[in-house]
Amino acid sequence: MATQDVRAADSRGRHTTSHRQLILLPGGGLLLDTPGIREVGLIDADEGLSTVFDNIEQLARNCRFRDCGHTTEPGCAVRGALDEGLLDADRWAHFQKLSGELAAFGLTKDRIAQEVERRRVAALQRGYRATKKHLRDTCC
Ligand SMILES: [Zn+2]
Repeated sequence: MATQDVRAADSRGRHTTSHRQLILLPGGGLLLDTPGIREVGLIDADEGLSTVFDNIEQLARNCRFRDCGHTTEPGCAVRGALDEGLLDADRWAHFQKLSGELAAFGLTKDRIAQEVERRRVAALQRGYRATKKHLRDTCC
């Protein structure tokens, strides 16, 4: 693995590697390299946000009624996809829950997608920070 000297100023390490790697040590131990995250961002904001729940939105466009509530309406493409197992029920429930919460604040679909993405990234960052803290507290 690539390494660098520690910083002269404070003798602390520098972020060098940029991928995560679990290494099996000869004595049976495990060494986990968890590099710092240099950048967390939306790769392509416009595209990224609309693809969060893209398949659900695409399905909804095929519903018979434009204002379909996807519950008992005839010709509902979302219910059809759920029945045929083409749409994951958990994903649908998650979408409904978030949509309901956010619609209560008068947010549009784009804002809902943004919020979903924001929460996803926030959860990833929480996990990353917790892992980093855990390692700092328990390692070396
Ligand atoms: Zn529908």
